[in-house]
Amino acid sequence: MVDVHGVHKSFGPIDVLRGVDLTVDPGEVVVILGPSGSGKSTLLRCINHLEKVDRGYVRIDGELIGYRLVGGRLRELTEREILRQRTHVGFVFQNFNLFPHLTALENVVEAPVSAQRRPRAVARARALDLLARVGLQDKADAYPRRLSGGQQQRVAIARALALDPKIVMFDEPTSALDPELVGEVLEVMKGLARGGTTMIVVTHEVGFAREVADRVVFMDDGRIVEQGLPAEVLDRPRHDRTRSFLDKVL
Ligand code: ATP
Ligand code: MG
Repeated sequence: MVDVHGVHKSFGPIDVLRGVDLTVDPGEVVVILGPSGSGKSTLLRCINHLEKVDRGYVRIDGELIGYRLVGGRLRELTEREILRQRTHVGFVFQNFNLFPHLTALENVVEAPVSAQRRPRAVARARALDLLARVGLQDKADAYPRRLSGGQQQRVAIARALALDPKIVMFDEPTSALDPELVGEVLEVMKGLARGGTTMIVVTHEVGFAREVADRVVFMDDGRIVEQGLPAEVLDRPRHDRTRSFLDKVL
């Protein structure tokens, strides 16, 4: 499904990703852990070409992301083609990033109508289903400022699902939330995982990783240091760097 191969990314003199290989299979839930600055967000952003990789490539279902091969050379796709590729990847951010001037329902309806040209009535019906799925059917007409952080994040999840993406990526989806609101968002994510949604989740919620992840990936300093079953990586880490990170977050 997702194939990240030999990806390097620098910002000026800083090598943020230093050769990352990662594959994610259909239906798999991969949780990425790692210290601040290790490159987790940059990796997610490279996967949907919000950042351009310097070296290596990303493929989703075999399709090269951001580029096409023309006569043996890589040529960047047009903006329009990139936007089309991004419709296959849902992205949930730490700070929700809802459109403040749109209601919950309109936030979910927007992309299917504008990016996929779905009829508004169809997109609306589907959006209501998605809002129900995240427990917010009664908040369809509320504006984001009237919603709690947990509710806003659940709208953001519904919005990420609205384009029927092949994969949904979450970048620290609960770390901006008050502690009492974290659980409701994790519950929605657990429901998606159980339903077979392919997910990459960057989080410090080790309990979530233990319960839901098929695989835990530990990143440090721009590299994947180790990966494996949650019990392997969380309970029997092989590397000192993983161990010292876990000692801090557990
Ligand atoms: P955190 O846990 O704090 O979110 P992270 O693992 O997600 O960290 P990244 O956000 O990927 O880490 O950042 C890795 C490094 O890249 C950091 O040193 C950061 O300052 C740098 N960086 C990220 N984006 C940019 C950018 N657009 N320009 C310059 N430097 C950047
Ligand atoms: Mg980050």
